[in-house]
Amino acid sequence: MAVIVQKFGGTSVGSAERILRVAQRVDRTAAAGNMVAVVVSAMGDSTDELISLAHRISSRPPEREMAMLLATGEQVSIALLTMALAKLGREAVSFTGPQAGVLTDGNPLNARIRAFTAERVKAALAAGKVAVVAGFQGADAAGEINTLGRGGSDTTAVALAAALGADVCEIYTDVDGVFTVDPRIVPEARKLAEITYDEMLELASLGAKVLHPRAVECGKEHGVAIHVRSSFHDGPGTIVKEAVKMERGTVISGIACDEDQVKIAVVGVPDRPGIAAGIFTAIGNAGINVDLIVQSIHRNGENDILFTVSRDNLEKALAVLEPVVKEVGAKDLQYRHDVAKISVVGAGMIHGTGVAAGMFAALAAAGINIEIISTSEIKISCLIAADRLHDAARAIHAHFKLGEAVDCP
Ligand code: ADP
Ligand code: ASP
Ligand code: MG
Repeated sequence: MAVIVQKFGGTSVGSAERILRVAQRVDRTAAAGNMVAVVVSAMGDSTDELISLAHRISSRPPEREMAMLLATGEQVSIALLTMALAKLGREAVSFTGPQAGVLTDGNPLNARIRAFTAERVKAALAAGKVAVVAGFQGADAAGEINTLGRGGSDTTAVALAAALGADVCEIYTDVDGVFTVDPRIVPEARKLAEITYDEMLELASLGAKVLHPRAVECGKEHGVAIHVRSSFHDGPGTIVKEAVKMERGTVISGIACDEDQVKIAVVGVPDRPGIAAGIFTAIGNAGINVDLIVQSIHRNGENDILFTVSRDNLEKALAVLEPVVKEVGAKDLQYRHDVAKISVVGAGMIHGTGVAAGMFAALAAAGINIEIISTSEIKISCLIAADRLHDAARAIHAHFKLGEAVDCP
């Protein structure tokens, strides 16, 4: 008897009809003799709607209350899906994250899972029931509700699969699997049959939101096979695992597009040691991830320090930077929303050459200016104008011919 974790994202549970369809799929999997634990997201755009509602009350809502509010979205879905399963005659029971034993680290809106006992889930499965668990939420040691960051239901699912020693964690979503680039942006995108944890982690961290980065990290750590697939049909999707069959001649596995970036500039910073350390320590202490960084040097003994953070973190970043800017004697603190990051990812880049040149040439040919560049062994990222992101994705995808299948025989 196999143990299967199935996770359904917001679109997949976006209406009563879709929840009934999800229930049928879960019921079929259980009827085939499997033990099934299900993880669900909030319905449709309801998390976004809850965030806008909060912002209509306050521009800086307390994080604790925001977590309290956002956690309600997933609670709606678990109850409705369990009702739908009951209607089909399938015994099922719903659990919130804390009831399922998701212990988090106390960060209200971007918590990490510290431990996942899943005791009540195991007991439900042992009693022949389907367990339906709320994604995206847990409670810290003091019992405070925490959420796992946007897209975090994927992480609940993979962590649950690890806790149960499940045979597979199926992530059902609104596309057919993991593609060479977001198929909604580039229709020529090609579905990958397999991808390694490392490449998927890089793509996810760089903004390909098909999987939450921590879900991939957790999958790699515990060796959970992740199958990303469509909730609308039964065709195979993409398997994320340790090693994959190398495709002949592929240096690049994919392109990630990130529209969630804001560029912050600390302008007119005195050119002396310790200033960058002061700025980034303040940002780091506030738990904010900094992405692309560049320092531009002027002749008059001043620098500008530019970097990007995610939009969610802008208010917080400005609040911690204001005093630091005064303290170091910088002239100004500015920010811009009209930027986006495009990244090319591939383990083959370690040995292959010419990827940077090809990427820059494709952008140049499309008349797209690069503002900041950052590279690692397996990725190259460029910050560009937000309104050119889709053109950039299409140009780079075409340049590297990523739409053409090159499987080994
Ligand atoms: P869910 O609600 O099911 O969690 P998400 O919206 O979080 O779904 O993730 C699925 C979306 O990820 C797709 O609709 C697609 O637009 C986007 N996406 C971005 N990059 C990729 C990629 N490389 N492959 C597939 N989908 C991608
Ligand atoms: N509902 C949460 C979000 O929209 C978590 C998730 O869907 O994974 O971010
Ligand atoms: Mg998601």
